[in-house]
Amino acid sequence: MAEECIFCRIVAGEIPSDIVYQDGDFLAFRDIMPKAPTHVLIIPRTHITSAAELTEGQEKLAGRLIIIAKNLAEKEGIAENGFRLVINCGSEGGQIVPHLHLHLIGGRQMDAKLG
Ligand code: 5GP
Ligand code: ZN
Repeated sequence: MAEECIFCRIVAGEIPSDIVYQDGDFLAFRDIMPKAPTHVLIIPRTHITSAAELTEGQEKLAGRLIIIAKNLAEKEGIAENGFRLVINCGSEGGQIVPHLHLHLIGGRQMDAKLG
């Protein structure tokens, strides 16, 4: 665990969160400042700083993030109408929390324009 990492502290249960899914390797919880009716963050329990740190050996982990997001989209009732998956990476990518996370956003019409 990275001592100063907010998301590692959420994984450790030191910071409360509204958890919607968890297993041995992943945690998903509602974003504290939701940008849409559904806004969930899916994270690996292990500290990985960003998508830029992913290695070839972490293919399965990277794939699981998307599968979990898709399962949660179904559970949240937004799979049929559509949803958005976002990974911000690094400062120019708009990443604020330096622990890899996938945003699942939905429940309203998204702007077609990115960025
Ligand atoms: P980023 O810009 O790094 O991709 O997104 C970080 C997200 O984490 C933001 O949407 C922000 O609202 C959310 N966030 C930051 N701190 C907390 C927290 O303590 N709890 C929860 N649930 N979400 C947080
Ligand atoms: Zn962390």
